[in-house]
Amino acid sequence: MNARPYSTTDRSGTAARLDVERTLALDRLANLHLDFAAMVAASADSNADDEHDPEGATIAFERSQLDALILQAQRHLADIGLARDRLAQGAYEKCESCGNPIGQARLEARPVARDCITCATLKISAVVSLADRKGTVATTEVRLSHDASMGGSMGTGAIG
Ligand SMILES: [Zn+2]
Repeated sequence: MNARPYSTTDRSGTAARLDVERTLALDRLANLHLDFAAMVAASADSNADDEHDPEGATIAFERSQLDALILQAQRHLADIGLARDRLAQGAYEKCESCGNPIGQARLEARPVARDCITCATLKISAVVSLADRKGTVATTEVRLSHDASMGGSMGTGAIG
């Protein structure tokens, strides 16, 4: 991982690449909106607004998938915009969290990256450990309610 400073050539190359990504993302978003409009029109035609109707359920599923794809494309577009801003401010190659260089290789693989691989890994492991803790809490709760119901049935046994 070499952290050589970004040159003007790097910056203009990155700007061009981000612009291509932006065009692609806008194109994708426009297509998704067209798909969405077509789906809404089709569902109005088929009059399948009953969720218990199998066709209605399919439409609801497709709609939620399209919603997710549109959201994803919008987020990507916002990330590209942020990357362009960071590039203009000369902050593009610096990690947003620790200020260290993000690294050429990472930026080439992921031009919208805002943090270095160390910080990105820390964020991921924080999410994972939070999920772990939630898992443990859930398990504890299950065991407690199990104990409580055992106690309850023993109590009932004593009365009966
Ligand atoms: Zn960092």
